[in-house]
Amino acid sequence: MTALAGVLGNPVAHSRSPAMHNAAFAALGLDWLYVKLPVPPALFGETVRALPASGYRGANVTIPHKVAALALADCATAAARGAGAANTLTFAGDGAIEAENTDAGGFLDALVDSPRGRTALVLGAGGAGRAVAWALREEGAARVAIWNRTSERAVELARELEIDHVARPTSADIVVNATSVGLEPEGGEGEAVAALGLDGVEPSAVVVDLVYAAAETPVLAWGKRTGARVVDGLEVLVRQGARSFERWTGRAPPLEVMREAVRGPASA
Ligand code: NAP
Repeated sequence: MTALAGVLGNPVAHSRSPAMHNAAFAALGLDWLYVKLPVPPALFGETVRALPASGYRGANVTIPHKVAALALADCATAAARGAGAANTLTFAGDGAIEAENTDAGGFLDALVDSPRGRTALVLGAGGAGRAVAWALREEGAARVAIWNRTSERAVELARELEIDHVARPTSADIVVNATSVGLEPEGGEGEAVAALGLDGVEPSAVVVDLVYAAAETPVLAWGKRTGARVVDGLEVLVRQGARSFERWTGRAPPLEVMREAVRGPASA
């Protein structure tokens, strides 16, 4: 019987995960199928609980269900607990649900060089900012500072994770954009730099933009112009997906196949 996996979200129509995972299953000759599962919040819990008996071995979870996914799981990894949210669910043979957050580890994989002993600035205190800040702290960054447009959220997150918060972005070795600034194609580099307060920030060694778009994002344009090594959101997407893939199938993920699939036209 074909094993199933899918992505639960609302909306989920534009997800690139089905193309990425189905290409990976095909490359390894696995009889698996990954589908989109559009689910409103009111139906999230009962839908997830019905999946194991319907042939699902796992699922990804995206906006707005990541916090609910952690809450309903029977057990959770340290990353899911630390990030306060889950983007990957794995179903055991008895239907038990395990929650994991591969956004955290996927971000570190995309970074390639360890952040140990480096300073980091995380822009954004939403779900993605929290996962990234937790990962950087766990991996031994010398300092993790968090900035957020709504400063109360940065203060609260910094208190919870025992990291620093800054009222204005400050210079750091690693700068991560974990806000949605740059998602809309019309905003240029100048607008994004102003919205994120990057004008006073010294050039950093690495700039990561979690936002992914067809064209180069404004934050990556800023990073390149200031001489940083840049890591784009599609690489982070591939790396988080690769970790989910390995968790479900037990197989080494075919990274190049997954990269090609997400960098192609948005599809099924
Ligand atoms: P979220 O929880 O809704 O948080 C959104 C964040 O963006 C908040 O910090 C918000 O600040 C900030 N923001 C929104 N508009 C802003 C503006 N005009 N100026 C400054 N800050 C602004 O979303 P999320 O789940 O953390 O996701 C954030 C981004 O990361 C999204 O673009 C998402 O697609 C991307 N992402 C990518 C990956 C990947 O694999 N590449 C994984 C996860 C997320 P306030 O608190 O002030 O509203």
